[in-house]
Amino acid sequence: MLSLEDVSISYDGTPAVVGASLEVPDGSVVAVLGPSGCGKSTLLRAVAGLERPTGGRIGWDGADLAGVPTHKRGFALMFQDGQLFTHLTVARNVGYALRLRRAPDVAQRVERLLALVGLEGYGARLPGTLSGGERQRVALARSLAAEPRLLLLDEPLSALDAGLRERLAADLHDILREAGTTTLVVTHDQEEAFALADRLVVMREGRIVQQGDIADVWARPVDAQTALFLGYARVLDGAAAARVLGVVGLEGDAVALRRSALTVAPEPAGGGGPGSDLAGTVRAVRATPDAIRVVVAVPGIGEVDALASPSARTAVGQQVALGVDASRLAVLGRT
Ligand code: ADP
Ligand code: MG
Repeated sequence: MLSLEDVSISYDGTPAVVGASLEVPDGSVVAVLGPSGCGKSTLLRAVAGLERPTGGRIGWDGADLAGVPTHKRGFALMFQDGQLFTHLTVARNVGYALRLRRAPDVAQRVERLLALVGLEGYGARLPGTLSGGERQRVALARSLAAEPRLLLLDEPLSALDAGLRERLAADLHDILREAGTTTLVVTHDQEEAFALADRLVVMREGRIVQQGDIADVWARPVDAQTALFLGYARVLDGAAAARVLGVVGLEGDAVALRRSALTVAPEPAGGGGPGSDLAGTVRAVRATPDAIRVVVAVPGIGEVDALASPSARTAVGQQVALGVDASRLAVLGRT
């Protein structure tokens, strides 16, 4: 198990990571999620042994890694752009670490790894002839070849376009589970984090602001900034939240909630108790490929996103019972 205790890292006296503590239990996938520049890569590089912490402790199964050089840690680090050896074939890229170690049966092991990442038969190709997604799969196979006790992934899918990223995220999730690889992934992309990880560590300006199981962090963002960063459309304070609690779905018309993670206890106030309707006026209707998004203006609250099913006929200006897309609504300021 990897453990970080109160780790700080500075560049020339300027702090990049401040007091970070987290654990990556064996066999789990933990994602560090935060905006660009918040210190994610720095943290990962310190775990790899490429940066020296200015304070705190990085340990593996209780042993301090401070004096252990990168190549003796047994970790593998994979970057956003994979960084393959362009003059070597796919098979030689994947088998690189194995040959360095003079491991037996390199050819068979390379074939198995290529099959694991869905690239059977690609061994003789050169990286230049592969798509971005295929190159990332090769990079992943190469990282897994060394059978690292910890895999460190730095924005592994960020260089790919959206559709491919989604597919590869699902594959990567399965590959990591199948290989049972303990993994620490850092990313600025919440979808990537949600697709890959079991646990989420949210970072901002060098500090960890929240961590826990994905579902818990999603359901209870610690503050407004975190909620917005997790993709919430709107953040209400406690008083306003009490008035919309329990109202999910356009009454009469079907509303499809993508997630139903709003689990805050109801607090009836001023007549707007749980389950009550709130009148709103439809401001805009926007069709996306899988849903119709309706923006409803609610007096006293403002504009709230609702997600209607494609069959729902909702006209702009129509009075409706409020359908809150609860998955995108953070309720804060409550205890
Ligand atoms: P992230 O990966 O979250 O985008 P980084 O860890 O790369 O963030 O950077 C965190 C902060 O540390 C940024 O302010 C960045 O400018 C700074 N930083 C990163 N690497 C170096 C470096 N080698 N020298 C000086 N400052 C750096
Ligand atoms: Mg980075």
